[in-house]
Amino acid sequence: MYFAKEDRYEKMKYAHCGNSGLKLPLVSLGLWHNFGDHSNLESMKDILFTAFDNGITHFDLANNYGPAPGSAEKNFGIILKEDLGKYRDEMIISTKAGYTMWDGPYGDFGSRKYLIASIDQSLKRMGLEYVDIFYHHRMDKNTPLEETCGALAQIVNIGKALYVGLSNYDGETLEQATKILNELKVPFIINQNRYSIFDRTIENNGLKDMSGKLKKGIISFSPLAQGLLSDRYLNGIPSDSRVVTDGRFLNENNLTAKKLEAISKLNDIAKARQQSLAQMALAWVLKDDVMTSVLIGASKPSQVLDNIAAIENTSFSEEELKKIDEIVKE
Ligand code: NDP
Repeated sequence: MYFAKEDRYEKMKYAHCGNSGLKLPLVSLGLWHNFGDHSNLESMKDILFTAFDNGITHFDLANNYGPAPGSAEKNFGIILKEDLGKYRDEMIISTKAGYTMWDGPYGDFGSRKYLIASIDQSLKRMGLEYVDIFYHHRMDKNTPLEETCGALAQIVNIGKALYVGLSNYDGETLEQATKILNELKVPFIINQNRYSIFDRTIENNGLKDMSGKLKKGIISFSPLAQGLLSDRYLNGIPSDSRVVTDGRFLNENNLTAKKLEAISKLNDIAKARQQSLAQMALAWVLKDDVMTSVLIGASKPSQVLDNIAAIENTSFSEEELKKIDEIVKE
């Protein structure tokens, strides 16, 4: 039987999500990988309990996380029922809909039909009455924003989510959606986008600036570029690494000589800061006030602990920032 450590709130820091009342831990945990039916429940528990014991209160899921799609929510639901559920009011649980989830025309994108059916399925799989944050997972140019936003409003109004978020939106679409959501009085508080030393998309598509302007939070996913921004691949490809265990989204082709050289140079900067490369990569994302949290993945508890320590130093000198930019531009 699991009981959380009593000192779990001593080290973690929490930040308000934009101008909302909701605080998120600076480091949050995502269940995209390592929580599907290919992983075992004991290893999932080790990772989740280590996170919760160290102040990580936010756990991020999506309808399609697995494999198989839905299995991460189902497994998380089992762990909630057996162990973590007694701490439900200390947890921020999010899920999403927007990518392919079931066959036919109603299990994908951004229609009212899809979102409303999907939240019901997610709640059932996790054994929850509501999620804390429900996201539309990706922009859908073929569905009117009014329809998607209206579905998000309804999901909140019927008590199935407390807050809503948008994921993978750009600055312009975020601005349009915010206007609609404001009119509908929806508590829209957060954007979830990919952001890391290697991926600067949100600096270029207006999302980061617009989010700051609208006083919304941003939680960055894949802040370690799925593990590339760590010492994981500096001396070859470990057999227990994502490239080997689950090459769906990260494979050997991503490990080019150029990339490895950049990783090695970044590792030197991290060492000089007395951080691991993973810690420096997370600190780099957290250095700006507009960033609420980094959403990490982990295949083992030790990674969670390594990553949490990133919050001890999130400031960078101008020189360090310049060097990092030069390395990624080379
Ligand atoms: P990361 O960039 O944090 O990559 C996680 C992987 O990096 C781990 O599985 C592990 O890989 C490796 N790793 C983690 N910590 C360390 C460490 N300290 N040292 C060495 N290696 C480490 O994030 P993810 O790509 O996993 O994404 C995180 C979350 O973001 C997801 O779970 C999901 O919730 C969300 N997400 C959202 C998306 C969206 O569209 N909204 C899309 C993608 C993700 P290894 O297995 O090799 O040990």
